[in-house]
Amino acid sequence: MRLHDHAGVANSDGVGVVILDENILNATSIRRRAWFAENVRALRRAYHTRGGKLIVRSGVPWVEIPKVCKEIQAKEVHALRSYTPYGRTRDAKVKGVTWHGGCYVHEPGTIQRPGGHGYSVFTPYFKRWSSLPIPTSVEAPARFSSSKVTIGEGEIPSFESDVLLPNPGEDAAIAALDEFAQTRLERYEFDRNRLDGSGGSRLSHYISIGVLSPRFALHRLREMNRDGYQKWMSEVAWRDFMADLLWQQPSLIKRAYDPKWENLPWQDDETSFESWRLGRTGYPVVDAAMRELRATGFISNRARMIAAQFLAKILMVPWQKGESVFKNWLLDGDTAQNVGGWQWSAGLGVDTAPYFRIFNPVAQGHTHDPEGQWINQWVPESGGSPEPLPNAIIDFATARKRYMDAALRIGELSGS
Ligand SMILES: Cc1cc2nc3c(=O)[nH]c(=O)nc-3n(C[C@H](O)[C@H](O)[C@H](O)COP(=O)(O)OP(=O)(O)OC[C@H]3O[C@@H](n4cnc5c(N)ncnc54)[C@H](O)[C@@H]3O)c2cc1C
Repeated sequence: MRLHDHAGVANSDGVGVVILDENILNATSIRRRAWFAENVRALRRAYHTRGGKLIVRSGVPWVEIPKVCKEIQAKEVHALRSYTPYGRTRDAKVKGVTWHGGCYVHEPGTIQRPGGHGYSVFTPYFKRWSSLPIPTSVEAPARFSSSKVTIGEGEIPSFESDVLLPNPGEDAAIAALDEFAQTRLERYEFDRNRLDGSGGSRLSHYISIGVLSPRFALHRLREMNRDGYQKWMSEVAWRDFMADLLWQQPSLIKRAYDPKWENLPWQDDETSFESWRLGRTGYPVVDAAMRELRATGFISNRARMIAAQFLAKILMVPWQKGESVFKNWLLDGDTAQNVGGWQWSAGLGVDTAPYFRIFNPVAQGHTHDPEGQWINQWVPESGGSPEPLPNAIIDFATARKRYMDAALRIGELSGS
């Protein structure tokens, strides 16, 4: 989805191919289809500016790529490797491709413990990760050596998004990166936990669909030599770590990292789930998060952690239901990051996140939205206070105890 930092593009004669994969697009929300399509359109403009072409087809890659190759008599096909369970199965079916890294800083499977096993805890993973140089990021070609391809490029469909989309394309992504560096990077370490998300880079929707290379972003920010870089880099490393975990254990997509947590007495209660989904739990921080997510396609990392944990630990609704809502509503929705974030928040054993850590949404609101502006924006009936509203659907202390009792029983049974 980009021309910079793409080993295949750098050596090509300027014919890109995007397959609008029906297995992905048909299964996702209108806003995510629209965001993807707008980025394909921006990519085509970038190819044209440099004298190249972008062929767009709908279907599945293992059928469409060979067809396109035959039509244009392609000598080589290059692509960036995917690591999700579907991505791996799909890529294995497309024969004759030269695969490159570039979706991550350090590819899943490359950061290993002595003895050849992957890491399951972030801190030692990051120690190893940060001891390695950041792989070089290749520049986008200034001009392609005029391609002789004459077939039609194919239509890019239009979808009407239900949320306002950010500017698409790599130029917009790089401009957003620079803007973050100039205005917020130095305070990143202190502001990144703000519930309104204003302390972060807000680049995840570009990074997750491959429009912005994380290696490129790190090189560019490091050169600016500003405070905040080290912390930001460690968050980008979390992204690699989550992808590595899913690569090691593909069952994470549906099942707890530590199988003992499958035995929690989950309450598949539709009324609780709907109240959470629609932002009507009566807990202003949780409701603000869900209303903002639905209305904009983005919420901060802290809002994600609190809302996810509330569903899984306080309402005890199966986490997979919440994961699916996030995946469809987030513009940055990404299988590895979302599943990992949910498993971490729900305390299912990812990174040994302890089961007894339960965010109190009231205290979280006071700390991370001290003026109450964000809460007030999304839950005006709260007047900006994080205290539970009279119609709160559950008593936090009672629900917390219910979860803790169940978790302790499971811990005792498993001897941990
Ligand atoms: C329940 C839950 C679900 C999540 N789902 C997704 C998802 O679907 N897609 C997604 O990209 N991120 C997901 N995250 C991670 C994180 O919340 C977002 O990446 C971050 O909020 C994006 O905002 P930003 O670009 O301002 O991040 P910044 O704080 O500026 O961080 C820079 C970049 O590092 C990466 N990053 C930051 N924090 C994390 C993290 N905790 N885990 C992994 N990568 C991180 C992102 O690529 C991000 O753009 C999830 C987290 C949780 C707790």
